Amino acid sequence: MSLFERFEDAFMPNYGVPPIALARGEGSRVWDVEGREYLDFIAGIATSSLGHAHPALVEAVTRQVSTIAHTSNLFLHEPEVLLAERLRALLNAPARVFFANSGTEANEAAYKLALKYGRREGRTYFVAAENGFHGRTIGALSLTGKAAIREPFGPFPVDVRFVPYGDADALKEAVTGDCVAVFLEPTQGEAGVVPPPDGYFEAAREICDSTGALLVADEIQSAIGRTGHWFAHQADGVTPDILTLAKGLGGGLPIGACVGFGEIGGLFAKGDHGSTFGGNPVSCAAALAVLDNVDLAHVREVSARLRAGLEAVRHPLLKGVRGRGLWLGAVLREPRSAQLQQAAARAGFLVNALQPDAVRIAPPLVVTAEEVDAFVTAFPAIVEEAAK
Ligand SMILES: *Cc1c(COP(=O)(O)O)cnc(C)c1O
Repeated sequence: MSLFERFEDAFMPNYGVPPIALARGEGSRVWDVEGREYLDFIAGIATSSLGHAHPALVEAVTRQVSTIAHTSNLFLHEPEVLLAERLRALLNAPARVFFANSGTEANEAAYKLALKYGRREGRTYFVAAENGFHGRTIGALSLTGKAAIREPFGPFPVDVRFVPYGDADALKEAVTGDCVAVFLEPTQGEAGVVPPPDGYFEAAREICDSTGALLVADEIQSAIGRTGHWFAHQADGVTPDILTLAKGLGGGLPIGACVGFGEIGGLFAKGDHGSTFGGNPVSCAAALAVLDNVDLAHVREVSARLRAGLEAVRHPLLKGVRGRGLWLGAVLREPRSAQLQQAAARAGFLVNALQPDAVRIAPPLVVTAEEVDAFVTAFPAIVEEAAK
């Protein structure tokens, strides 16, 4: 049996069978089990920030795993303290941190933290955005605005009201003095890398301020340099009350974080929340290596180059390019993203058919100008192939 058949046999069918089996990587390059080389323009869903086998990540993880790999939260360790302090310094705000292992867990922590606030204030419901994505566990799923993945598992024990993303008036209408919190992505990732209109996040901040609802920024996909800023909300000049992080933070090692600002950061009482693996020393060491090696100036430079290159491509199938930094959606006029993903793979590039009409392009943050040029040069033929 092939590896693909064995996967299909041994795994639950929730993922389907992925089309390519990867064996190894180096920088922005990966090789499949047959030895075929690809340029990785999806980075494990905007997660492998430093690309593959980055020497600093390898060194940090190797050093940590051979020193102490796990303590549980019965004992503290220095890497977790260093990482929390680093995040606070990058956020440049009074904040306190909880470490989890994934995005959905970071949002579960945010949800519980917001609930503590809501119970204290007598507030009853949450607001989130249509087409938003916050994770697959029941709590985060209840906030996820895509009915197709939420509804088969509802109803949920919390009242969540959905508003169209990017519509400040609808948000204003939905958020009253009874609202606990508003969960928003600064740009919607899974929806197709959809940025909101200018001023939306600022408007959300104002609406929350005037009603006393908390603003929760789900930056699980958008943070850690992906947009050319450490955090996307910093570009909007907005500070949320709660921030969640995961994907790019560990550079491929599993870690999530929930950050509470000001008074909110102190709301959990002893025993309110926890995680055996959360803030694991190896993942924290990896995250510190990521933060030491992400170069925002480089991200801005190569992302401008990538965007300009893609925007110059003219093809009837290609409607345009949206997104921020090294996090782009190529939008199609017809639902042919699966064909585009396949055509790209045949040409030696990994991208992700995110929506029927949108392809996600999210290379490692260390992608070079030459690698960007290689993709841009190949792109017209890939689009042409997808259109056939
Ligand atoms: C990926 C993602 C999540 C879920 O993260 P997992 O690590 O898959 O649980 C939540 N929110 C956003 C915005 C994401 O992109």
